[in-house]
Amino acid sequence: MAWFKKDKKPLKAQDRRDVPTDVFDKCKGCGEILYRERLAQNLNVCPDCGYHLRVSAQGYVSFLIDSGTFVEMDEDLRAADPLTFTDMKPYPNRIAAAEAKGKKEAVICGTGELDGIDVVLSVMDFEFIGGSMGSVVGEKIARAGKVALEKERPFLIVSASGGARMQEGIYSLMQMAKTSTVLARIHDAGIPFVSILTHPTTGGVTASFAMLGDVNLAEPGALVGFAGPRVIEETIKQELPQGFQRSEFLLEHGMVDRVVDRRKLKESVVTILRHQYAGWSD
Ligand SMILES: [Zn+2]
Repeated sequence: MAWFKKDKKPLKAQDRRDVPTDVFDKCKGCGEILYRERLAQNLNVCPDCGYHLRVSAQGYVSFLIDSGTFVEMDEDLRAADPLTFTDMKPYPNRIAAAEAKGKKEAVICGTGELDGIDVVLSVMDFEFIGGSMGSVVGEKIARAGKVALEKERPFLIVSASGGARMQEGIYSLMQMAKTSTVLARIHDAGIPFVSILTHPTTGGVTASFAMLGDVNLAEPGALVGFAGPRVIEETIKQELPQGFQRSEFLLEHGMVDRVVDRRKLKESVVTILRHQYAGWSD
């Protein structure tokens, strides 16, 4: 039985099969290792536990909007540096680093069809400086809102944001008023606005357009709030309840209208537009 006597050679580093890091993702919900392609087919929702992994702005556009109908607007708006802000690195360098990853800003806006319904859509991208709202984000959303107003089309915003962009200081805060004003005009004109909250939606975005929807939908488990839980705990000197600021908690407390699985998101928005706003479905 020669093989029993075989010397056990230790595995050398080069003998191990390299697993390319871009092929698998680990689910943050259940720890399962997931094949990225299969995950993408499931809209980045874990097939085992339903955990919602992040989707890029482009990803939302492609699964919400009917194929071939999206026309992007204002894609070349670029941030100025009015405060010549320097923290760890100058603001223009931070923008350049974010752009080097292939994104232009923290929001994509455009027109398109949603199951045949003409809509205007803005989708925030957390990967671009934490989805922070600077003057470009505010301006693009305000302009998209104006298109919805002029063309009398339903407006949808998918939010994902760490809040105001601190590098733009007060200019960043002014975007809250600017976007809210356009939404008030949309409301007065009786044009539907559906807000979709994804993980995380916080700070000035929550304090302005994200919570102003005729219908506010949230993805499961999304953190939605103004200040972070740690800041609140330190301020009120109390421990916060389980699940505080998560979609399900906010639904129970009347802050959001519905928690919707991403795989049912398109269907839900279409149902809302067709049922609530007869006449918008043509
Ligand atoms: Zn999972």
